[in-house]
Amino acid sequence: MSIKMPIDCVLALTYNCNARCTMCDIWKIKDSPELTLADLAKLPDSLLDVNLSGGEPFLRKDLPEIVAVVKKACPKARLVISTNGFLTPVIDKAMTQILKIAPDIGVAFSIDGIGEMHNEMRGIPGGFDRVMDSLKLLKGMGVTNLRLAFTITEYNVNHFAKVYNLAQELGVQFTHSFAQSSEFYFGGKKNINNPRKDLLEVAYQQIINSELKSWNVKRWLRAFFADGMFKFITSKNPVFDNAPGRDFFFLDPSGDIYPSVMHNVILGNIHNVNSFKEFWYSDETEQKRKQVDGLKMPVWMICTARTAIKRHPLKVGFWILKNKLFGYKAA
Ligand code: SF4
Repeated sequence: MSIKMPIDCVLALTYNCNARCTMCDIWKIKDSPELTLADLAKLPDSLLDVNLSGGEPFLRKDLPEIVAVVKKACPKARLVISTNGFLTPVIDKAMTQILKIAPDIGVAFSIDGIGEMHNEMRGIPGGFDRVMDSLKLLKGMGVTNLRLAFTITEYNVNHFAKVYNLAQELGVQFTHSFAQSSEFYFGGKKNINNPRKDLLEVAYQQIINSELKSWNVKRWLRAFFADGMFKFITSKNPVFDNAPGRDFFFLDPSGDIYPSVMHNVILGNIHNVNSFKEFWYSDETEQKRKQVDGLKMPVWMICTARTAIKRHPLKVGFWILKNKLFGYKAA
């Protein structure tokens, strides 16, 4: 596969976190290192999607400066902040400044269930109400690119469609992922996650058919991605090969550059990178990619799948047409 410059990345700005999630131990990390503004200024201008994540990104007091630096380094990129949404007054203050720098920035709020379910999943009493307060605050500020991001586990799978319905009611987008294990992300948490297939089928069928009923291409593509998630969690096979470490990278707070949050091969460290382009095309990085291939670890995550989906317009278009006309059945 010929190498091009990456177009998608996730930045873990810090591993400091104020949540107490059941499926992630990042919050147990003390005194996390943090990506510096100088690190972020080295990001390549090829990036089209940049997710500002953590830990909890709003714990970074310099988040407005971070947004300014990333926007300057990656002028074509769509920026999204992924937050647990618990720090409403902090979000208020930071977003007032951020919106002056990046008025079209998106914000994704983690929501793993309605009410008490979310509070239990995130280990924060009253957490659901706090997230709703933050979301309403941003709506009031005129932020239009808002999302609810749901993490599926065995425990909350029966809230999957409920949170989708909540997103519809609130008029915001909906994304989802599965709780997974990673050797170096999620604080090394080992998640055994086998949600009941029958419950997944019912939820996916409702969500995907609802997305396909819309007249919005982005939502149709989300329906395709969601079908890919269903297939991946039930068969462990991705619908298309995707290319972590080629189209996509993950940057951790210490500056280590990984192919994804699942592939434990450090491609390099941003502190040592003078030119991202030279680093990306170097023989050393290519050798590391071969190591990644050797892991034979397929993934299907929005960050890595996005490009794979774009590479197969005919197959995706046919799937959309067929399922829009005849209805989608999860199987
Ligand atoms: S899932 Fe997110 S909010 Fe929860 S502990 Fe991990 S980083 Fe923090």
